[in-house]
Amino acid sequence: AKEQGRAQVCFFEPGMHDQAQERLSLAQDLQSAVAGSALQIYAQPQVDGTGQLVGAELLLRWHDERRGAVPPERFIAAAEESGLISRMGSQVLHQACATLALLARRGRQLGVSVNVSPRQFRQADFVQQVRAALQGSGAPAQQLTLEVTEGLLLENWQATAERMHELVALGVRLSIDDFGTGYSSLAYLKKLPLYELKIDRSFVQDVPQDDNDAAIVRAIVAVAHHLRLHVVAEGVETQAQADFLRQHGCDALQGYLYARPLPLAQWLQSLES
Ligand code: C2E
Ligand code: CA
Ligand code: CA
Ligand code: CA
Repeated sequence: AKEQGRAQVCFFEPGMHDQAQERLSLAQDLQSAVAGSALQIYAQPQVDGTGQLVGAELLLRWHDERRGAVPPERFIAAAEESGLISRMGSQVLHQACATLALLARRGRQLGVSVNVSPRQFRQADFVQQVRAALQGSGAPAQQLTLEVTEGLLLENWQATAERMHELVALGVRLSIDDFGTGYSSLAYLKKLPLYELKIDRSFVQDVPQDDNDAAIVRAIVAVAHHLRLHVVAEGVETQAQADFLRQHGCDALQGYLYARPLPLAQWLQSLES
C-alpha cells in the first residue's frame, strides 16, 4: 500500500493528496473506533457561584492505537463530515441518560450536558432518539442539557425553532454553546425556548485584564439574565477569572481551575466519597 501511495503522489499535488488520504483514513479508523470501544466518554464538572458541584459536561475522547490521542476538534469534524457523528452522539446521549438515572437513584440532584452537533440535531428522528433515551433509562429529563452552537441557527431557522420546542416539550434544557463566537443575531434569543448561554472560552481567557473581553462578558450576562437565561462560563483557569465571573453574575463555572475532564466512571466514583 505504501508503494502504491508513493506512485500516486507523482500525479497529484503531494500535500493535497496526503491530506485527502489522511482524512479518509481518519474517517475509516474512526468508524472502527465507534464500533469498538476506542471512544471514551469523559466528564468535566461544573460548579455554581459558591463552588458547589452542580453537574458535568460529557466530552468524547478518542485514543487510537496508532495515532495516540486524537483531539476532538479533529475527529468531531471528520465524524460530522462522514455522518458518523450521529452514532457517536447517540452513544453519548445514552450514557448521559444512564448517568442521570444512576445519580437520581443515589439521590443526587446533578445535571449532565451533552454536545449535539448540527448534523445530529437535524437527523429526522432526533427528537424520537432523545425521547427513547429518556424513557429507556428513566432519567429525569430536566437534568439533561443539550448544547448546540449558533451555527445551527443560520440555516433552516423555522425547522430548528420547531425542533427546539419539541425537545423542550420532553423536559430537556437547551444551551447555546460557544456563545458569541457565531455570526447569528441576538434577535433569536427571545424567540427560542432556551435555558442557558455558555460563554465561550475565548472571552473568558483574558478577563479581568482585557477591557473588551470584560465588557463582552458583562454584556452577555446582562442580556442572559434579562431574558431569564442561565449563564455558564467555560475555560475558567484562574482564580482571578472565577472571581470576575462570579462577581458579574455567572451562574455556573467550568474549567481547569475546578477540574480537567476525567473518565465518566471516575467522576461518578469520585461522587461516592
Ligand atoms: P466544547 O463543547 O466547547 O468543550 C469545551 C472544551 O474546552 C473541551 O475540549 C474541554 O476539555 C476544554 N476545556 C475545559 N476547560 C478548559 C480550561 O480551563 N482551559 C482550556 N484551555 N480548555 C478547557 P475538548 O474536550 O477537547 O472538546 C473540544 C470540542 O469538541 C468541544 O468543545 C466540542 O465542540 C467537541 N466535542 C467534544 N465532545 C463532543 C461530543 O460528544 N459531541 C459533539 N458533537 N462534539 C463534541
Ligand atoms: Ca460544549
Ligand atoms: Ca463550549
Ligand atoms: Ca469551545
